[in-house]
Amino acid sequence: MAFFGGCIDSTQLKTVLKKLLEGDFLIELRHALNIEDVNLPIKIDANIFGSPASCIPNKNKTSLIRVEFLVEPLTKESERLFGRIFDQHLVDIASELFLKFIIAHEFYHVKQFMKLGYSIEDYFSISDYSKRPEEHEANGFAIGYLLKGADDFTKEIINCITNQHFDNDSASVFCDKYKGYCVNTQ
Ligand SMILES: [Zn+2]
Repeated sequence: MAFFGGCIDSTQLKTVLKKLLEGDFLIELRHALNIEDVNLPIKIDANIFGSPASCIPNKNKTSLIRVEFLVEPLTKESERLFGRIFDQHLVDIASELFLKFIIAHEFYHVKQFMKLGYSIEDYFSISDYSKRPEEHEANGFAIGYLLKGADDFTKEIINCITNQHFDNDSASVFCDKYKGYCVNTQ
């Protein structure tokens, strides 16, 4: 598909997001998390502002009412992470991995609140995202889930998502290394 090099197209990203949420990826993730009996509505929205993904609680913050994904913030974050990779094919694969990471992270929250008895009220009482212990656990799960049997490409992308994004030099090395890379395990 002809996009500008390294660009993330929000319409395409939304299509991939829907595919992941409606297909085998989410079925297998829910199975791995043992939350197959938790049936929360999933909403995909085009909002410009907000978290890329959120668990939305009821008024009393005693339960969750839905899981929400925002296409524009997801697109922006994906651009921040992979915008320097000039090989569009690699950007597309990396963006899909990023979406998988976000979905795994968010559904781990679903497990925390709906299965493990974590307090939704406590969670929302801490406004500093980095100080919420739930976030570290959700990231830890998402990393482990995606790294299971992962190839080097996937490992580098997960490292980019969780530690540092590419600069021009590392992006150039990355593109040379993975020119023509094909996903064969996912
Ligand atoms: Zn989170």
